Amino acid sequence: MSEAASSLRLPTFADVERAAARIAGVAHRTPVLTSRTADARTGGRLFFKAENLQRAGAFKFRGAYNAISALPEAVRRRGVIAYSSGNHAQAMALASQILGVPAVIVMPHDAPAMKMAATRGYGAEVVLYDRYSQDREALGRALAAERGLTLIPPYDHPDVIAGQGTLALELIAETGPLDILVACLGGGGQLAGCALAAAEASPGCRVYGVEPEAGNDGQRSFREGRIVRIPVPQTLADGAQTTHLGAHTFPIIQARVADILTVSDAQLVETMRFFAERMKLIVEPTGTLPTAAVLNGLVDVADKRVGIVISGGNIDLAAFARLIGG
Ligand SMILES: *Cc1c(COP(=O)(O)O)cnc(C)c1O
Repeated sequence: MSEAASSLRLPTFADVERAAARIAGVAHRTPVLTSRTADARTGGRLFFKAENLQRAGAFKFRGAYNAISALPEAVRRRGVIAYSSGNHAQAMALASQILGVPAVIVMPHDAPAMKMAATRGYGAEVVLYDRYSQDREALGRALAAERGLTLIPPYDHPDVIAGQGTLALELIAETGPLDILVACLGGGGQLAGCALAAAEASPGCRVYGVEPEAGNDGQRSFREGRIVRIPVPQTLADGAQTTHLGAHTFPIIQARVADILTVSDAQLVETMRFFAERMKLIVEPTGTLPTAAVLNGLVDVADKRVGIVISGGNIDLAAFARLIGG
């Protein structure tokens, strides 16, 4: 094992429990929803954890808040930094605001105006970079060094993983034991955290990850037993446009996940329509990954009790209308 790998601190179930205590009363305990239509279509008993109704619109708030809270007071006071144009940026901005911590979010200059405004609205300082000519990591590192900021990555961090796992802990506390749990897979924070939680809270539960067909690096990594890197995948699932699993997420996924499945963008859109029409929910494309896999029969759920993550609902209404209306 390389020195870097052997010095990793992998999160445990105890970390998920500590995260649950930290976020209690701050993160929403999101509802668990059911649908007779979905049950009838699949033959299973499905329990949907509605993280599209989480603060800042996605489960990412759990990991961001937990990771910032876990920093020693003196470190936290100097501030945190993240690079993201997506849900992690908004989660970090909101969590920092609540904790009274300065936050810098590094975003591409052409990031959607709505996302920039939301991030600034939560009080974070947005630093723009040109994605064609500037290296955001070098820029982030320089800012971090200059101002003594702590970098919180979107998935490859033990406290982020533990925070994301709290969603599965809450789900199982409400439903009782599950036979199957299906989560999203981008960089693996959600899947690794949920797998840690399920292993203790519902022993024997089979945990599946679902990623977009165009970005199947997770499936390949799982099957080949090493972290496979791919170019930025072209998919509607912008929350899962990751190019590789993390050093912390991969070993947990490898040890605790039953399989990794993929779905097409067309299946994501169909599932967005299902949520809007049948469950009256606005779900962003990435948030539909697990449901798309289950509704399309990729997991055999007949007569099973199945937990399904709806991971987020952040999509601008024009894009939503275009996709749903088409
Ligand atoms: C980030 C994100 C994911 C993927 O989570 P990972 O922890 O990177 O695997 C899924 N859905 C939404 C809405 C996200 O924002």
